[in-house]
Amino acid sequence: MDTPLMHGANNLDSHWMPFTPNRDFKKHAQFVSSASGMYYYTTNGHRLLDGIAGLWCVNAGHSHPKIVEAIQKQAAQLDFASSFGLGHPLAFDYANRLTSIAPEGLDHVFFTNSGSEAADTALKMALAYHHARGEGQRMRIIGRQRGYHGVGFGGLSAAGMGPHKKQFGMLLPGAAHMPHTHDPARNAFSRGQPQHGAEIADALEQMLQTYDPSTVAAVIVEPVAGSTGVLVPPIGYLERLREICSHNGILLILDEVVTGFGRLGRPFAADRFGVTPDLLMIAKGMTSGAVPMGGVIASGNIYETLTSSAAPGAVEFAHGYTYSGHPLAAAAGLAALDVYLSEGLFEHAAAVEPVWQDCAHRLRGLPGVVDIRNLGLLAGIELGADVASGKLLAKKVHDFCFEKGVLVRPVANTIVLSPPLIVSQAEIETIFETIAGVLKEL
Ligand code: PMP
Repeated sequence: MDTPLMHGANNLDSHWMPFTPNRDFKKHAQFVSSASGMYYYTTNGHRLLDGIAGLWCVNAGHSHPKIVEAIQKQAAQLDFASSFGLGHPLAFDYANRLTSIAPEGLDHVFFTNSGSEAADTALKMALAYHHARGEGQRMRIIGRQRGYHGVGFGGLSAAGMGPHKKQFGMLLPGAAHMPHTHDPARNAFSRGQPQHGAEIADALEQMLQTYDPSTVAAVIVEPVAGSTGVLVPPIGYLERLREICSHNGILLILDEVVTGFGRLGRPFAADRFGVTPDLLMIAKGMTSGAVPMGGVIASGNIYETLTSSAAPGAVEFAHGYTYSGHPLAAAAGLAALDVYLSEGLFEHAAAVEPVWQDCAHRLRGLPGVVDIRNLGLLAGIELGADVASGKLLAKKVHDFCFEKGVLVRPVANTIVLSPPLIVSQAEIETIFETIAGVLKEL
């Protein structure tokens, strides 16, 4: 294959990149080689204002010195220790710190290495919990259209993105899907949570009539669907889902891989919406993206049920990863949490949210803009097709913004934004003014 010569990457052939059109990318490859705070630097010296926190994860800003130092120190002290029957103090310290900021009643952390693993872990916990209580017939998992829960077989089965599934056969039997909450006819250009649509949750009740509640193990949703374009739940919707689950003995799993760690101005979306799940999935912002890590924060009831039901000395939950609670990840996680709390980043995110919302909605009326959605430091700018070519605009907008020094993310035809939580008012204005300039130009 013809590959360009690039400083620091002379041969592009061997790296098979995830979720990337590899052949196209390698023809026009773009690299970042360093980062600091709100900025990436490309190999050819271009500075990029990071409007997406890497990939919804670098909440403390890039290469935060306290996180870097913690990782360096830990690497020299203890590089690896398995969590299979052998402990190391940091994983315990970090779990305690996490449960101290988690919603009340969520008090045990199971570590994974990614959001995908968190999804599969949460789903397996739900099945094992019912099994331990003699309700092993509860096998059905209910996800939602336009949901994204990573790429493992469990998370992908529960997710609602057709194009991600079509290459992979039947996936898990027994996964069913509620309707998504995106309702542009009633809610286009809502500022924050849409007014209309709490009753969309009632579709779950109808599904329970179809399947019978006694066969359903868990409902899994993202509080705000991120990867499918920032779909913000209507007021009352999540509360209603919680009610229906509780009434029917079904566990509620909130996937907070994107919304956790201050993205909505609170530690978790669960706090913002006042809805406590039975299992809360985390990843990304845990370590501010510096070391791969994920996890599931479980209710005391689930932990007690699983740990007390096994025969003495037997493994209670036959699940775990070589790198669960890895020392470097735990060190990065502890340091990131310290930064979030000591620098008041969750409060900062809440304080700049009105500016973020105003700037986002100033794009209304510009050519191509068909909807704008926002909550916390998340926004989705949905675009129509390019009038001249009929092609989707979002990728073009990304390319032009890149040239002008701002990194945004196109998903289908929506520009999604989720900056590091350290973002300043001036940087927020730059992000949206750049997008506005590009839309006018196009
Ligand atoms: N859940 C959600 C809501 C996500 O947005 C993502 C990743 N974008 C995942 C799960 C999967 O996380 P990972 O890529 O770390 O496996």
